[in-house]
Amino acid sequence: MSRTSDLNRKNETAAKTDAGSLETFDVAVVGAGFSGLYMLHKARRMGLAAVAFETGDDVGGTWYWNRYPGARCDVESLFYSYSFDRKLAEDWDWTERYAAQPEILEYARHVCERYGLRPFIRFNSKISSVDFIDTDDVWRLETTSGEVVLAQFVVMATGPLSVPKKPHFKGEERFRGEMYHTGLWPHHDVSFDGKRVAVIGSGASGIQAATAVSPVAGSLHVFQRGAHYSIPAWNRPLTDADRTVFRENFEDLMAKRRQSFMGIILDTNPATFRKGCNLSTEDRHAQLESRWNHGGLLFNMAFSDTTLNAETNFEIAEFVRNKIRLIVRDPETADTLCSMHFPIGTKRTCVDTGYYEIYNRPNVHLVDTRKTPVREFTDDGLVAGDREHAFDVVIVATGFDAMTGALLAAGITGRDGRKLADEWKDGASTYLGLAMSGFPNLFTITGPGSPSVFTNMFASFELHVEWIADCIGYMRRRNHRRIEADRHAQDNWTSGVTELIEDTLYPQADSWWIGANVAGKPRRFLAFTAGHKDYSDICRNVMDNGYTGFNLN
Ligand code: NAP
Repeated sequence: MSRTSDLNRKNETAAKTDAGSLETFDVAVVGAGFSGLYMLHKARRMGLAAVAFETGDDVGGTWYWNRYPGARCDVESLFYSYSFDRKLAEDWDWTERYAAQPEILEYARHVCERYGLRPFIRFNSKISSVDFIDTDDVWRLETTSGEVVLAQFVVMATGPLSVPKKPHFKGEERFRGEMYHTGLWPHHDVSFDGKRVAVIGSGASGIQAATAVSPVAGSLHVFQRGAHYSIPAWNRPLTDADRTVFRENFEDLMAKRRQSFMGIILDTNPATFRKGCNLSTEDRHAQLESRWNHGGLLFNMAFSDTTLNAETNFEIAEFVRNKIRLIVRDPETADTLCSMHFPIGTKRTCVDTGYYEIYNRPNVHLVDTRKTPVREFTDDGLVAGDREHAFDVVIVATGFDAMTGALLAAGITGRDGRKLADEWKDGASTYLGLAMSGFPNLFTITGPGSPSVFTNMFASFELHVEWIADCIGYMRRRNHRRIEADRHAQDNWTSGVTELIEDTLYPQADSWWIGANVAGKPRRFLAFTAGHKDYSDICRNVMDNGYTGFNLN
């Protein structure tokens, strides 16, 4: 749409606003995943007129769309949960240490019903434009089906991993079998029984899907472009005793989560959390062995210099490679699985439930697409290198346009006609990952520049929802109509986020954290890496000092 017709439409809306013909809310929340649900609940508890728009026909966000076989969380369920209501924790029984997707989706539904949120969510409602009407200090939101509402505040709860990145493979239209992206998994049952299955991609989604499909598929080929590091989850059923200990210590544990580096409870006492480079080889090995046996994402936190010191990092990576070689019997397959091209921890480490073990099954094959790239699809399968493979089902697990994809897709235009897409053409820039200069009264939950995907998302988004709710409450009490990030504060924040990684190993990886997985995306680090606790302190200081770095009118 041209700038002129944009303005015409806005003027028309302003006139309608005067006439009071459009539904008007205090708060419009975009997205009904876990963060959107909490934002909606919080706004309603404050007595605000609030509505949420959700593309899907149910709540759950990422857990609604990513329903591929094997999908489960990589943060322990007890902590991958809300902390704002002790009674909710008392009434909900997680069954496994790492919950599977159906149980997590059920938790989202339970929360939605428990707090009576469903009537305030518009399902099958994808937001296509979000425009600021300067004259009225109000946002105009439009859905793809033409529904229009106005809201004083907009909260983008669109999630950092919600826009699937699906490469177009030459000839894929010809393929007569079934093809599904993990991030857009169909709602009907998909059978793999005895079928010839391919998985393209070996990040967290590909690893989980391949592991789940391997025992039932007739044959499974995993097409690996880059090898990833994966740590065993050692998933197990939770016992009544686990849940009792958690509930009895709920406040203390959740306070520790809030004070932690990653939103996951971790010992960062300098006496025990030490630099690997200051330890003996035996001590480093013992520490790694103990972390491996504990499993999960905390493996990378064995030492405080994992992503700072190349030698420490190499030793950790070698430790993992040695474990892979012990598990995988075929040496050539083990070599391919060990051919990582980046320091451990500089791409999100995967957490698995027997992934490397699947390569000891006779029906599972690994194809190294660095040596034999996927060239094209055929009627019956695909050609990798010179070889044609026939498949019944192809699972595409090629990731997401992370952190910025969903925000840009919402078509956001701020004051004076500024488009977010133009503002971010050289890379995303925010203040605190919460707000942007030029976009008054619009907040981003776990936006670029916040710890977000570097942490347990529940800790991250609870902090943001509570901060946003406090901010709206403050504005109401003081009769402020507008809050907007100051350009200078935003520039400083954005360069600070970049500086944080300058002396680290992170720039060595072509990760989605840096936007490198999407062709043409500006390369800029998209998360704040100094930890959840420091970030929370900064946000609290900003608030306690009357919203420093923001302009209030
Ligand atoms: P990802 O980590 O970006 O992995 C995508 C995979 O697809 C990589 O192996 C990549 O290869 C490959 N790939 C991408 N484009 C390709 C192409 N054109 N041809 C061939 N291969 C291609 O995506 P993801 O696995 O969906 O995971 C994304 C993030 O979602 C994770 O890092 C994690 O934060 C989250 N997640 C979490 C869980 C969980 O356990 N809770 C599960 C799934 C996802 P290269 O490595 O060479 O780029």
